[in-house]
Amino acid sequence: MIEHARLSALLQRERAAYEARLPRSRAAYQASGSLLGRVPMTWMNKVAGPFPAYLDRAFGARVRDIDGHEYVDFCLGDTGAMAGHAPEPVARAVRERAGYTAMLPTADAEWVGAELARRFKVDLWSFSLTATDANRWAIRLARQVTGRPRILVFNYCYHGSVDETLITLGPDGPRPRSGNVGPPVDPAVTTRVVEFNDADALRAELAHGDVACVLMEPALTNIGIVLPAPGFLDEVRRLTREHGTLLINDETHTFSAGPGGCTRAWNLDPDIVTIGKAIAGGVPIGAYGVTHEVAERILAQKDADLVDVGGVGGTLAGNALSIAAARATLEEVLTDEAFKRMIELSERFTSGVRSAIEHLPWTVTQLGARTEYRFGAPANGGESAAASDDDLDDYFHLYLHNRGVLMTPFHNMALMCPATTAQDVDLHTELFTAAVRELTG
Ligand code: PMP
Repeated sequence: MIEHARLSALLQRERAAYEARLPRSRAAYQASGSLLGRVPMTWMNKVAGPFPAYLDRAFGARVRDIDGHEYVDFCLGDTGAMAGHAPEPVARAVRERAGYTAMLPTADAEWVGAELARRFKVDLWSFSLTATDANRWAIRLARQVTGRPRILVFNYCYHGSVDETLITLGPDGPRPRSGNVGPPVDPAVTTRVVEFNDADALRAELAHGDVACVLMEPALTNIGIVLPAPGFLDEVRRLTREHGTLLINDETHTFSAGPGGCTRAWNLDPDIVTIGKAIAGGVPIGAYGVTHEVAERILAQKDADLVDVGGVGGTLAGNALSIAAARATLEEVLTDEAFKRMIELSERFTSGVRSAIEHLPWTVTQLGARTEYRFGAPANGGESAAASDDDLDDYFHLYLHNRGVLMTPFHNMALMCPATTAQDVDLHTELFTAAVRELTG
C-alpha cells in the first residue's frame, strides 16, 4: 500500500523544509554547550526533525517558536497542557502563590481532595509533584499493606520512570523494556507482565498469590490507544478482588475520557487512582487517591514511616502553588462543560482522520478528548508496538509541523483543550488528508 521509495522522498522533502523554516532553532541547538544532549531534558530530542523547534510563547491551544511560526498544538505537552497553555485562572493562582514552599497545608488542598474524590470515586488524596511519583508511592503503599513483593502491569504500558514498570513481554517471557537505563534489578524480580485484554493470562499470573497491585491505564494510551475489550475491565476487577490484589487506575492520560477519567466515565471501581500532568494546568503536580478501606489499612501500618523518610513523600509535594493551580484548573478550566466541548471536537477530529484513511488498513481510536491513529488494528500492547512505523510517524509529524500543526512526538496522538476550535480541527483534517494523498497517490 505504501511505496517505500515514495515515503523516503517525501520524508526528505519535509526534513529539508523543516530545517529551512527554523534557522534560529537550529542555531540555538547547535550553540548549546551546557546541556546533556543539547536540551534541558533528553526527551526533548524526540522530534522528527534533526533538532527541536525552540519555544517562544504558548497560549491557549497555540504555541509560537523562536522563528516566529505559530502552531495549533494538539500535543499539549503530551497531556500536561490539556487545560490549554497558561489558562487565566491558573495564571492568577500562580501570581498569588508563586514561590510558596512552606511544607504547611493550605485550605485549598481540602477542596482539591474533595473534588478529585467526586470525580474519580476514591475517597482520600495525597499529592506529589509528578504522576511518576504518585505511581511510585502508590506501589509502595500497596506492597506495604498487602505484604506482597510484586506488581503486575500490561505489556507496553507506560507509567512514568517507575523501575517496576519498565518491562515487556518477549516470546520467551518477561524482559526489561528495550533501552531500560541502569535498572536496579531485573524487573522480572519485581513485576509480572501480561498482554492487555488477556484475562486468562492475568488469572494465571495473579494465581501465584504474590501480586500486591495491578497498575494499569483503563485504556492503554502510551503505545497508541488500545481500548479494553468488552468485559475485560470487569474481569480485571473480579480477578484482583478474588486474589487479594489492589487495583490502581493510572488516569494521567485517560483523564481525557471525561471529568473523572475512565473511572467515572465507565463506572470503574479501583482501590487507588493515580494522576498528574494536567490537573494543575501546567504547574507540576501528581496525586494518588485511595478508598476508605485502603486508607484504614495504610494508617494501621505501625512500622511504616509515612511522615518522614519512609519513601512516600517529598519536600515540595503538596506545595501551596501546585495545589492552588489544581484548584483553579478543576474549578474553572477542566470543567464538565469544557470536557463536553473537547470531546465533541475530538469526535470531529476522529471522523476527519477516518475519512482520510478509509482506503488503508489503519485505524483511528478516540478516548474522549484524545484521538490517535495507528498503522494497523491492534488489540493489545504487543500488537500495537508491532504496528509502529518510525518513518511514517516522522512523515506525518513533519508534514503537519511544516504547515502549522503539532502532534505529540511520541506517536500520533492529538488532544483537545478548552481553547481548541473547530477550525483548528478542520485545519488538521485538511492537512492530514493531503499528506495521506501525497503518500498513497
Ligand atoms: N502515567 C502515565 C499513564 C503516563 O502516560 C505518564 C507520562 N507519559 C506518567 C504516568 C508519568 O508522568 P510524568 O512524566 O509527568 O511523571
